[in-house]
This record gives sequence, C-alpha cells and structure tokens, in this order.
Amino acid sequence: MSATAGAEGAPDPLDAALLAWRSILPEAGILTAPAQLAAYQADTSDFSQAPSAVLKPASRDQVRQVLAIAREHGLPVHPISTGHNWGYGSANAYVAGCVVLDLSGMTAIRHFEPELGLVTLEPGVTQAMLRDWLDARGFRFMVPTTGAGPRCSLVGNALERGYGLTPHADHFAAVTALEAVLPDGTVYRSPLADEAGGSGFRWGVGPYLDGLFSQGSLGVVTAMTIALAARPARVETFYFWIDRDADLEHCVAVVRDTLRDAGSSIGGINLISAARFLAMAEHEREHGLAPRARPLGQAEVEARAKAAGAAAWMGIGAIYGTAAHAAATRKLVRARIGGIARRLVFATRGKARLMERAMAWLPGERSRRLGRTLRLMREGLELLEGQPREVALPLAYLRSGKTPEGQPRNPAHDGCGLLWYAPIVAMTGTRAREFVDIARAICLEHGFDASITLSSLSERCFDCTLPILFDRHDPADCARADACWRALYHAGLARGFRPYRVHARYAQLLASEATPFWTAVDTIKRALDPDDLVSPGRWQARAGR
Ligand SMILES: Cc1cc2nc3c(=O)[nH]c(=O)nc-3n(C[C@H](O)[C@H](O)[C@H](O)COP(=O)(O)OP(=O)(O)OC[C@H]3O[C@@H](n4cnc5c(N)ncnc54)[C@H](O)[C@@H]3O)c2cc1C
Repeated sequence: MSATAGAEGAPDPLDAALLAWRSILPEAGILTAPAQLAAYQADTSDFSQAPSAVLKPASRDQVRQVLAIAREHGLPVHPISTGHNWGYGSANAYVAGCVVLDLSGMTAIRHFEPELGLVTLEPGVTQAMLRDWLDARGFRFMVPTTGAGPRCSLVGNALERGYGLTPHADHFAAVTALEAVLPDGTVYRSPLADEAGGSGFRWGVGPYLDGLFSQGSLGVVTAMTIALAARPARVETFYFWIDRDADLEHCVAVVRDTLRDAGSSIGGINLISAARFLAMAEHEREHGLAPRARPLGQAEVEARAKAAGAAAWMGIGAIYGTAAHAAATRKLVRARIGGIARRLVFATRGKARLMERAMAWLPGERSRRLGRTLRLMREGLELLEGQPREVALPLAYLRSGKTPEGQPRNPAHDGCGLLWYAPIVAMTGTRAREFVDIARAICLEHGFDASITLSSLSERCFDCTLPILFDRHDPADCARADACWRALYHAGLARGFRPYRVHARYAQLLASEATPFWTAVDTIKRALDPDDLVSPGRWQARAGR
C-alpha cells in the first residue's frame, strides 16, 4: 500500500503505521480489506463500529511492538481475545476507527500446576482448547464453562467479569495473576506472579491493581493465571417446579437459606421464568409451540409453559462434592426446596444418558421429543461438569439468525438479534418481586415478554439475565429492542438495579455519570493511558468530557 500524503504532505498516520506493522507481522496478521474488516463489525444488534485495520499479533513481544507503533502514530487500539462478546458488542470497539488487536492466535497454555489446578494461558485459548489440553493429559479439572460455548475465550470472558456454570462461577474472581502490556509499553505483572503464574495468592502486597484490567481498558492482557475447580466425585443437578408466580418471594427466601446452609456443595441455583423457558424451548419449535411475533403476556406465557411441562418458575441447581456431601446436600434440598416445589427431580449425567439411549430405541413422536429433552439435559449437565457445549447458544437465534451449513454457530455473523440486560438483584423476595414486576411491565410496553433468569451469584444476590431477542434484519425491531434496553436500564437504575456488564453501545450511559467512582476511573485512565490509546470510551467517559 502506498502512503497517502496528508494535508501538509505528511503521510496518513494509518498508512505510516501499516508500513511499520508490516515489518513486525506477517501479511496474514494484518487485515485491511473491507470484507475482512466487516467480520469484526458484525454484532447481534444494529450497532457497528468500523475498525481502521485488524492486527493479529502472535506473542507478547509483538503486542508490545504493535502498541508502540500505534502510540507513535496516535492510533487507538481495541484488544479482543476471541471477539465473541455476543449480546454485549461482539468484537466492536466503542468508537469507530480503532485498530482491532485480535489476540485469538495467542493460544499458548504457558504453564499448568497440576497439584494446585493453576493454569496460565494466553488470550486466544478457548474453552474447548483448554478442555482438550486437560483431557489429553488426564487432568480432572473443570473448564470454567459458559452458555456462550466452546469457541469463546477464557481471558476475554474473565476480563468482562463473565459468569459461568461451574463452582468457580465468577470468572474474574478465579483469576490469581495476570500479565498485561500497558499503553506506555511496560509489561505489568501481578505482584506475586512469575512467568509460571505464581502461587495462587491474588492479593500480594500493596494496592490490588489486577482488577483495573477487568472492565478497565487500561492495557492489553497477554496472559492470565486462573484457578480451576477440581472435578468432584459427584456432580448432580436438581430441577424444581414452582407453579404460581405469586410464590416467587417465598421461593427466593428458601433458595437463599438453602444456599447458605449448603455452602460450597451447591454451585448455584437458577430460577428460570416461564417466558425464558419458552424462549429456550421455542427455538427449535419441537415442543409444538406456535412461533409468535408479539408478546403473549404473563397469563398466556404461563399457560404455554405449563402445557410444555414447565411452570411459572423452574429452578435448576448443581450439587458438587464427594458422595457423602452429595447425599447430605440432596437431603437438605429435599427438606427445603421439596417443601415449596410441586415437583423436585435429581439427575446425573449417567442417568440422563441411559434414559436418552433408551428413548432412542422407542418408536413414536413422544419418545423422540423426550429423547431430545434428555439430550439437552445431558448436555446441560456436561456444562456443569466443566465440559464446553453449545447447548445454550440456540437461544440467540429465536427471532432471527441462521448458521450457514457446515459452519460453527456465531450469533453475530449469523444475523441474530440479541441484547443482554443483566442487572444485579439482591436475594430477597421483596427485591426480586420488585425487579420482576418492573421488567415485565417495561418489556411488555415495548412488545417483548421478559425472558428472565435469576442466577445466584452468592446467597446474597442474583445476576438477572434478560435477553432481548429481536429480528436483527428489521430496523424497526432493532429500534424497539434498543428502546426496551434503555427503558429497562433507566427504570432499574431509579430503583437501584444496576447492570454488572453492558453492551459497548451503552458504555457512556454508565461512564458519563459524574459520580466520584467514575471520576476516579477517569483519573486512573488519564494517568496510565494519557493518549486514550486502549479502547477509548469503553469503560470510562470519553476524554474531554
Ligand atoms: C446464548 C448466549 C449465552 C451466553 N452465555 C454467557 C454466560 O453464560 N456467561 C457469560 O459470561 N457470557 C455469556 N455470553 C456472552 C458472551 O458471548 C461471552 O461472555 C463470551 O465469552 C465473550 O466473548 P469472548 O470470550 O470472545 O471475549 P472478547 O469478545 O474477546 O472480549 C470481551 C471484551 O474484553 C476486553 N478484552 C478481551 N480481551 C482482552 C485483552 N486480551 N486485553 C484487554 N482487554 C481485552 C475487550 O473489551 C473485549 O471487547 C453468552 C452469549 C450468548 C449469545
């Protein structure tokens, strides 16, 4: 590419930088063709920010060199691990014109400490890669799985403070050390960490700084040490049916007390609303439920969910431990949750697999449907055991999106319409009811049923995930979904329900709040990244506010 002359005859900064990057990266590591860039702009919404180029460094040293050139030419960068941040912006930066640093080629598992379960890995390592690596060596540790599936990163997910399905559900909480290239080129490392990751004690001495890199845009993380949970002797799930929506408050109190008494024997409990159940079940239309364009309203939602074998609220919990722990926890769950649920069922993967096989031998539509339910149940159990699966991903395809034949699922590339609204809800009956009522009213007003799941993060709070699912090919539907998200955000905020994570398009809604917290964030950003080099505006107010 020939350098374009600028106004005063100076070369265009991007052209000059590209020339310099070509001396560091191979041709395949520099993408500038419009079709190549378009892949990084695709999102599960109509949000899209064109990058000026995409670079694929393959090592920490290349990241340092690439960053030095970006700094020299005043070009902002946006690092991604695998760029599958579906429902939260995918690979998009907050602003257009960033150079995307695609780190998916950095796939080294640098160190594994088998006695401690500490793994030090690079940003491109996916859930599936880690699973294969552990299995090949016979290590019985769980991969911190999520609903986003096998091809998503561990580093990007943890940096977003993602949540998962194994006992180490809070993924950034399991990070014990990290390495990052700062905007000035310094390589930052956690105080007690060495190349091999360190001892697993995250705090070290002095202020805790690793947290600055999660939802922080203060550097490019090149490695992370994560504490993996060992796979216990027994992993079981329990499912329960709460028939009346009016029993939610009581159910929340019982769930809280159960979690408190069970301690770490229960990994977490999810309360799935009838609307969420329908959204998950309807995708493949195999429950005989008619597709629908408009919201059904609560009464119809509940009626349909019950007809499909669910309830106003379905609960799912996971038990981890030795056989003795599991037996004691089952007893506790029976005494507590069995007292409020119409039905309570325990399952293991082995049991689900046996029944699935039996169904395969039986003729008829009913056994085929039951077989499919058992397969989903088994794959759900595998996720809980730390085996990455795509079982939750079809949800994104409810209103639009189709995976091309032979391709892996990618909701951003496949045309899915999805925005996650994910506020934290205190685990009290009153707060849960208040939240659910507001969310339902606002969703209905905007033409959606509120597909709420309340996932316990501790015995004190839930993370609510509410997917707004829409037709991404219909501009009016995209606008409706955006308006719904904003209305949920503002109504929630007014009552103290704040999201734990937001889509890139909404970054400034939070960060431009003139609170002491965001002012401190700005001060730190200006000190560490005075040129606003890394992901400008993503997790801090735009400079010059
Ligand atoms: C149906 C469905 C279910 C989902 N279920 C879950 C779930 O259970 N839990 C969950 O957490 N998410 C879930 N997601 C959301 C999302 O897809 C995942 O969180 C996914 O792991 C994020 O994408 P990624 O791993 O490719 O991260 P990336 O997209 O690579 O990274 C996310 C962000 O982190 C920052 N970042 C990434 N890498 C670096 C780096 N090396 N240095 C500095 N900053 C960096 C950037 O700001 C980037 O935009 C779900 C999505 C769908 C569609």
